[in-house]
Amino acid sequence: MAWLPTLVKACYFLAALLFILGLKRMSSPRTARGGIAWAGAGMLLATLATFALPGLQHRGPMLAALALGTAVAWWSGRRVAMTAMPQMVALYNGLGGGAAAAIGAVELAGFAGATVTLLDGSAFTASGVEAPGTVPLALAVLGALIGAVSFAGSLVAFAKLQGWLDRRLVFPGQRAANLLVLLAALALGAVLIGGQLALPSITAFFALALAFGLLMTLPIGGADMPVVISLYNACTGLAVALEGFVLQNEAMIIAGTVVGAAGSLLTQLMAKAMNRSLANVLFGGFAAAAGGGRAIAGSQKPIEAADAAAMMAYAERVAIVPGYGMAVAQAQHKVWELARLLRERGVKVRFAIHPVAGRMPGHMNVLLAEAGVPYDLIADMDDINPEFPVTDVALVIGANDVVNPLAKTDPASPIYGMPILDVAAAKQVIVIKRGRGTGFAGIENALFYADNARLLYGDGQAAAAELVAALKSLDG
Ligand code: NDP
Repeated sequence: MAWLPTLVKACYFLAALLFILGLKRMSSPRTARGGIAWAGAGMLLATLATFALPGLQHRGPMLAALALGTAVAWWSGRRVAMTAMPQMVALYNGLGGGAAAAIGAVELAGFAGATVTLLDGSAFTASGVEAPGTVPLALAVLGALIGAVSFAGSLVAFAKLQGWLDRRLVFPGQRAANLLVLLAALALGAVLIGGQLALPSITAFFALALAFGLLMTLPIGGADMPVVISLYNACTGLAVALEGFVLQNEAMIIAGTVVGAAGSLLTQLMAKAMNRSLANVLFGGFAAAAGGGRAIAGSQKPIEAADAAAMMAYAERVAIVPGYGMAVAQAQHKVWELARLLRERGVKVRFAIHPVAGRMPGHMNVLLAEAGVPYDLIADMDDINPEFPVTDVALVIGANDVVNPLAKTDPASPIYGMPILDVAAAKQVIVIKRGRGTGFAGIENALFYADNARLLYGDGQAAAAELVAALKSLDG
């Protein structure tokens, strides 16, 4: 069976192709579903091929772990609501980082002389049995550090998004404490790379790395969360790739690199969308600005569905601005029905999408695609912003932070500097929301008090249905 290792490598190569082609297909909503299937097939192939590795031990426990993980992921993946997707991404991403860190832990413990059997079949049973080189040690330590930080940080992000943790946990001297913990972890890492491997220092290294992940994520909150989640996604990829080098497993190296690169690009895009530097997201701004924001003068002016429908029916241009509330209400189908009715009357309708609307990248695009909205009606922020001054009616449904003018005008606001959809520039604005609830950043919105804004109170789906009914009765 001398050809078996070659076959495994060929399978890894094919899996890598499937990852890359799958990722390419994910770049357009038209082909994204297929892309996910391709990448999934690649992962399945890589997993099956790994079982054919010569000398692989502990197949039973590995199969049991795989079966358990698959069952839990299948069950939770089918049950999760679209609105809870970011938490799920954070959790699963964190588990990836944790898995990479666990590989690092097993290897380092093995190098230290604990009885550990590695995936490639080599066993370490006594101290100094095999003196590892500095490079594999450095890769193992670095991968373990990044993986552990990503694991702990993602769990905090999960707990925050799930509402289990306060969004901004700040204490005096936090930055100094964070820095101290990081420096201590790095110093211990250097000791380990230097070859002084002992179980107590390995354990302390992991404890410090995990503590740093926790401490670093606790003060981050509000509008910065998407950037943090995609950053940890990139970190997990990097950690997996580094541990892949240590295990000399090509599938891990390629999959990790692809995730790391895609995650880094997404992090950059998200940071740009929020107009924040990564350093500012991680170490600054938000905590200092938390609680800021001045009181807003004026009052919210309600409108009835019939009047709102008439306003749109006789408009030339209508822009529909969906946000998180549309996802909660699952109103996308009704909103599309409304848009179709308007288009039948000759109204020019476009959907305006902010890059961080909703609770995950592309959230609104996914919902609108699910409802069947054609892609050419969907405009991103830079495209549609110049159009708002010539738009007769902007219909905001469940969006709040992404249309808050305070992001431009109030330096004390936690979302100050984030680019927004310039909805207030439209001639008339109709806002659908249930009451006086704030958005994710937890702050008031000046748009709702503007002279040209009217509030249509109600659940997103019910309000859109009322508008549809009112439009139909106009025709009847
Ligand atoms: P927001 O969270 O700012 O606002 C949502 C609004 O929807 C609220 O004002 C709420 O008001 C209303 N709402 C909630 N439920 C309903 C319902 N059933 N029917 C009608 N309205 C409803 O949403 P945005 O999309 O404007 O902003 C997204 C925010 O989330 C940003 O701060 C972003 O940074 C953050 N974020 C984004 C992520 C991403 O990747 N896209 C990930 C994590 C966070 P009321 O209660 O009165 O109804």
